[in-house]
Amino acid sequence: MTQANLPEYDYDIIIIGGGPAGYTAGIYAARAALKTLLIEGQGTVSQITITDIIENYPGIPEGIGGFELMQLFKKQALKFGLEILPKDVNGIKKSSSVPVIWELTAGNKVYKTLSIIAATGAMWRSLGVPGESEFAGKGVSYCATCDGPFYRNRDVIVVGGGDTAIQEALFLTHFAKKVFVIHRRDRLRAAGMLQERAFAEKKIEFVWNATVEEISGSDFVTGVKVKDVTTGKISTIAADGAFIFVGRLPYTEIFKGLVEMDKAGFIVTDEKLRTNAAGLFAAGDCRSKLFRQVVTAAGDGANAVHSAELYIDEVKGQTY
Ligand code: NAP
Repeated sequence: MTQANLPEYDYDIIIIGGGPAGYTAGIYAARAALKTLLIEGQGTVSQITITDIIENYPGIPEGIGGFELMQLFKKQALKFGLEILPKDVNGIKKSSSVPVIWELTAGNKVYKTLSIIAATGAMWRSLGVPGESEFAGKGVSYCATCDGPFYRNRDVIVVGGGDTAIQEALFLTHFAKKVFVIHRRDRLRAAGMLQERAFAEKKIEFVWNATVEEISGSDFVTGVKVKDVTTGKISTIAADGAFIFVGRLPYTEIFKGLVEMDKAGFIVTDEKLRTNAAGLFAAGDCRSKLFRQVVTAAGDGANAVHSAELYIDEVKGQTY
């Protein structure tokens, strides 16, 4: 498929990533009759598919499992004829500069496209302590917005001292009876204003210079074993939930050197989800933004396609 005056290419849009941002982009692009391929990786674990229940995705009042929700996204995309390739992308480069034609390698094949939507997601950083994976979804959580309402009048712990940990600890005080913030140092990394709010909040108790050594429980979490790093003393804090906010890692390795990223490796976009590379857009958790939720990722997917479509029209309308 090639316009008479354009170099050869296979697709209008290639979406990389099979999460909520990627599949929403797939639904919008395929429905808009853009020649689209969605490449969903084989080797990466997606945050949503390991999320037990999502209660705040609009239109599903009874809540839905993350895996099940993604199956519905996929079904809807297939209905509009989206082409899906279950392969990891091994390389991305430009094969032409004016106009830009992107060349992606997946498996042994090369795919040429006018535009790319990066929707590769991110993964919360885990502590790697005993009990963490065992109790994931059974008291261990990486999202207060998602799981906070399950802890009304319960005691919870929060691990971390950054903006996310403190913001989420404050959010959890809307539900929990008590929120223990366990931090490995004696001062927070979080912004001053957040610190002030957290120090003034009576439900929050700080456990300084402490690391979580183990998360324990039976069917659900019942507490955490904590080590005082100054004395080496081990103690137990009883809690029904353990919220871990020690940073998030973006899946953006394949875009390194191609686009601007923030210091944590998330892709920088403008409000139209354009990156600083022509024809390369980013959507969902892999981009630098404040609020990472299924609904915001889906919104990003739709917006990225809208911007890509405007870009494609412009490219096709030009003569070379
Ligand atoms: P972050 O700033 O990297 O903070 C991670 C926190 O976890 C730090 O306090 C760190 O301790 C701690 N930590 C890391 N590994 C640990 C481990 N293995 N065991 C125990 N503690 C560990 O991550 P973030 O809070 O998710 O923020 C990420 C970015 O998003 C930041 O740039 C942040 O400013 C931004 N953000 C902004 C807002 C906002 O409202 N403006 C809200 C959320 C996030 P140390 O402090 O000792 O290193």
